[in-house]
Amino acid sequence: MKFRTAGAVRHSAVNGPGIRYVLFFQGCPHHCRACQNPETWDPHAGRVSDTEDIIADILSTRYLDGVTLSGGDPLWQPEAARCIAQAVREKGLNVWAYTGWTWEEILAGRAGQAREVLPYLDVLVDGPFVLAKKDGTAVWRGSSNQRLIDVQASLAAGRMILLESDTHSPISYD
Ligand code: SF4
Repeated sequence: MKFRTAGAVRHSAVNGPGIRYVLFFQGCPHHCRACQNPETWDPHAGRVSDTEDIIADILSTRYLDGVTLSGGDPLWQPEAARCIAQAVREKGLNVWAYTGWTWEEILAGRAGQAREVLPYLDVLVDGPFVLAKKDGTAVWRGSSNQRLIDVQASLAAGRMILLESDTHSPISYD
């Protein structure tokens, strides 16, 4: 499946726990003020990639703990995000994704087909970057409105459950 990417980092230690392959999707509709990657906004820019090639590259990369789908907004190309997340998760890699949509927007269907990616994610970092809520102490997120969501626990419970960022243990969120 063809889709657009902005780039990739094969070994990253700053986009989730452990050593992670970070794939930057091209295209983002959110246009957050002070976004650090505005070159990823244009859905027609970047390069055309193939999901099978990306999956093969990830699975041939050694010493990985997981994969992080970033951008841009990976959930703006939900079919490719789902395809990659499903394939690498089946091989034992945990999958994180960053999105500018909130969990509630995704579940309400206001993010296109993004909801179909959720069954293949371990953690979703949700919501836009909000400059007024920029928080340099927040782990793995840029502003305090963004949440680290334990996706599998949330889907099983039928309510959002956050991941406690320093221990990775799930905590209830009501
Ligand atoms: S969602 Fe992320 S990539 Fe998109 S504009 Fe906001 S900060 Fe930038």
